[in-house]
Amino acid sequence: MSEYGCEQCWSSEASEAWKAVTSIPIQAHLIDESHYIVSIRLCPSCSQHYLQVTTETVDWKDGEDPIYRTIIPIDDAERTELTSSKRLDANVIEVRHNRNESSLSVHETEIVVDVETKGPEHREEVLGALRADGYTPLLR
Ligand SMILES: [Zn+2]
Repeated sequence: MSEYGCEQCWSSEASEAWKAVTSIPIQAHLIDESHYIVSIRLCPSCSQHYLQVTTETVDWKDGEDPIYRTIIPIDDAERTELTSSKRLDANVIEVRHNRNESSLSVHETEIVVDVETKGPEHREEVLGALRADGYTPLLR
């Protein structure tokens, strides 16, 4: 028994949950870049929403780049916030997840995002939006 979804879309058993949740339809794409996709799935049986983040890292080896998918259940308030967020119209070039940095605790992941902006003003707008959402962006 799980507190999320129904037997059509989720399970307390990870492999069963993965099989079930990836079979329900995608309701909306929030970001649809070639190496970074953020979408929301909706269970037609119980109306549970799920956030799916797909990142493909480019390792320049044999054309088989590693792909990472994360799916988590979200509630209605979270879905509303995600779908009504102001689009900043910045071009995400690459997203990397770093879990091995020695300065990170085991509960932290550093996310390195290469973003193309329209100039210094737009860059400040994007950084301001990240700070407003509780992130601490570091420029490199
Ligand atoms: Zn369901």
